[in-house]
Amino acid sequence: MLNGKRVFVVVMMLAIPLSLTANAADDVQKLIAALLGDTPVVEDLQELTDTIGGRPTGSQANQRAVEWAASKFRLAEVAVTTEEFEMPAQWQEESVTAQISGDIEFAVDAVAKPFSIEVKNLVAPLIDGGKGTADDFVKLGDAAQDAWLLIETPVLDDKVGLAGLFAEYSDASKIESRAFGAGALGVVFMSSRPKNLVYRHNASRGFKNSYPLLVIEREQAKRALRLLRSDRSLQFTATINVHSGGRYKAKNVIAEISGSQRPNEIVLFGAHLDSHDLGTGALDNGVNVAMLINIARQMVRLNIRPERTIRFALWNGEEQGLVGSWKYAEQHEAELDNHVLAASFDIGSGKTSGFFTGGRPELVGLVDQYLSPVAGLGPFHQVDVPIVGTDNFDFLIEGVPNIVAVQDDANYASNYHAESDTFDKVDQQQLRLNSAISAAVLLGFANSNRKLQRQTHEEIVSLIESTTLESQMRDFAVWDYWAEGERGRHD
Ligand SMILES: [Zn+2]
Repeated sequence: MLNGKRVFVVVMMLAIPLSLTANAADDVQKLIAALLGDTPVVEDLQELTDTIGGRPTGSQANQRAVEWAASKFRLAEVAVTTEEFEMPAQWQEESVTAQISGDIEFAVDAVAKPFSIEVKNLVAPLIDGGKGTADDFVKLGDAAQDAWLLIETPVLDDKVGLAGLFAEYSDASKIESRAFGAGALGVVFMSSRPKNLVYRHNASRGFKNSYPLLVIEREQAKRALRLLRSDRSLQFTATINVHSGGRYKAKNVIAEISGSQRPNEIVLFGAHLDSHDLGTGALDNGVNVAMLINIARQMVRLNIRPERTIRFALWNGEEQGLVGSWKYAEQHEAELDNHVLAASFDIGSGKTSGFFTGGRPELVGLVDQYLSPVAGLGPFHQVDVPIVGTDNFDFLIEGVPNIVAVQDDANYASNYHAESDTFDKVDQQQLRLNSAISAAVLLGFANSNRKLQRQTHEEIVSLIESTTLESQMRDFAVWDYWAEGERGRHD
């Protein structure tokens, strides 16, 4: 009897952790199966994109998107709040007209780059700015002064993909600073997408921009360049009407499933809810918003309780300077030490092939391990570099372990920020597969007791110095905030 009792006690002691692990493994399998099956994820995405549509922060559509997302969590019985934060300034294009005149006259389709200033019938010579390289500006000399500079851009299609997109940001930032240095009146970028498609990229100085900046249809830009290069003289006239204003309030949507064992430890999964207004923000980033809402919904439906608290964050103000996640990091500063991970999803519906692990080799092994339940959807490969351009940024400079899903470009870059970013571009089957992959990683972190330390200020500085972070931060107009101590960990 005594022996029997002892054996029983030993078995009980072993059984507690063993059964938890088994349950956790079971939960991952159940959740994956549910996400691969029939769920409302596509319906949600269609509602957000077709019904609410483009939803720039500061617009009424954006407010409707916030209410819509909160109600989706509420209907799924996931605890949800909205958290108000301040946007630095209001900017929305109202209308733009552009006209080429001089030796030859024709109208061109144009859009303003966000944070472009307003101008009324601003007429000036249109000058061939070449590709806007340093050499091109040397050749231009004084000719750039008080002129509209037309800049030729390389084509961005599905073949060039994301690498081309990052180059576009990086080039634009250098071109704009050369143009302003040379005394140009404004910059007119040739659209990098053919067939009259135009798109919005932020002015490279963000909220601090003080110049008129436009993107015009590729075909007419080429026509203008051919004319200029055959010694025709052209003028450019633009009217840019903007709804602009000072500070205002926007909201993040924060939903939560509290942890059963370590509720103070937080695994945060985020995607931005806002979009630009030309398209309906399907690839960027409705698809990942719908994915996170659906993962939360299926977890509650299956009664899956993680050991750590899971927070689903639908950010706002991302397109206008990664503002929502920045303000979250400020508002939750006291909790940041307890953020085990901040994950971001923002590359459309191409196949998830791994994660950017931010230059923290310790994260690579963890992510590898947590992907094992979905090994059949691989192969997976982690890319251990820090990247700037989405909502992992403020976590990165706060020293919080952060990852960003690496996804095949598929059709992301060619539709990015353009009128063509609509529901029909989303790969619905890949969305289901990506949901399963994301959920495996989410539960992996949420059911683990491994915790990476938050990096100190010195460690963040050394990460910046040993990688390409500084130039990436400059390209995305966020370097000054870090350098001036407005953002990131400085203690
Ligand atoms: Zn995005």
